[in-house]
Amino acid sequence: MYDLIIIGAGPAGLSAAIYASRARLNAIVIEQNYVNGGQIIDTYEIDNYPGLPGLSGMDLAMKMAEHAEKLGVTTVNGFVQSLDLTGPVKKVITDEDTYEAKAVIIASGATHSKLGVEGENQYGGMGVSYCATCDGAFYRGKDVLVVGGGDVAVEDAIFLARGCNKVYVCHRRDELRAAKILQENLLSLPNVEMVWNSNLKSITGGMKVEKATVVNKFDKSERTIPVSGVFIAVGITPRSEFARNHVAMDEKGYIIADETGATNVPGVFAAGDVRTKQLRQVVTAVADGANAVTSAEKYLLTL
Ligand SMILES: Cc1cc2nc3c(=O)[nH]c(=O)nc-3n(C[C@H](O)[C@H](O)[C@H](O)COP(=O)(O)OP(=O)(O)OC[C@H]3O[C@@H](n4cnc5c(N)ncnc54)[C@H](O)[C@@H]3O)c2cc1C
Repeated sequence: MYDLIIIGAGPAGLSAAIYASRARLNAIVIEQNYVNGGQIIDTYEIDNYPGLPGLSGMDLAMKMAEHAEKLGVTTVNGFVQSLDLTGPVKKVITDEDTYEAKAVIIASGATHSKLGVEGENQYGGMGVSYCATCDGAFYRGKDVLVVGGGDVAVEDAIFLARGCNKVYVCHRRDELRAAKILQENLLSLPNVEMVWNSNLKSITGGMKVEKATVVNKFDKSERTIPVSGVFIAVGITPRSEFARNHVAMDEKGYIIADETGATNVPGVFAAGDVRTKQLRQVVTAVADGANAVTSAEKYLLTL
């Protein structure tokens, strides 16, 4: 029986592991992938993590994983399928084993929805991005296309318009779903052009993205727009399916927890992209991991 089980070895989980080890907790990390690091493994460059500008996502992941390993944190490979949180002993059930602990930190992250269009995978990190906050700075002075019509897409487009030469926004409807104030801000910008009633068909180029082709859903006409970047903002899905009906979630599946990480179940905490929060980034994920361990320590003292 462990003091603490940490689900997920992304930035939040690895930060939690480091803090748990330094707090001398008997902790274990359960991760489904064979490589630790979470979403940043697939990130070409992380340019906004303080003190480490321009580091590749893989290098940052390796540094975090090595740090946790050096402190003696054990990571086991397994896909968490379900939880039993009914008693004081929390059970975490993976595809191979059942693990028991007094407290649990859920740090299973999130995944950006993909469109599945031609060129999307091929140009991932070479012009196709799912995160304007992360990658926008690389497109200063260039033309880009944003796909989506919700709050995130509109916020991304406004953010990009501050530095980019021109921002096209491709949306499949004739009106945006985003909050009215965001819409007004976006539509007032001189360097933004809306591409209404259209779907992205393909992303093409040489080594990097050069063009995006969109199709009008009514007359099926195609338009090829020269752009250096395509930002896809069609949704993020929290990876919380195994915790459904065990901890309280919002309508999108994010685990409801504040900065302390405390959920509605005593002894169960959420950290990183999987919890309700304003900004999903490495810097906030690692802070969450540290906070969740501090909360878990306080909880363990009450037992
Ligand atoms: C393309 C891209 C670029 C990005 N660029 C930046 C950037 O430049 N700067 C920045 O700050 N942020 C960036 N981000 C966001 C950043 O990667 C995330 O905010 C951060 O990784 C969140 O950390 P996390 O630990 O909460 O979750 P994740 O990184 O998602 O890690 C969660 C871990 O949990 C594991 N897991 C999930 N479910 C289970 C399960 N059932 N059983 C076992 N293990 C499980 C996953 O395999 C994963 O390893 C980017 C994201 C993407 C997708």
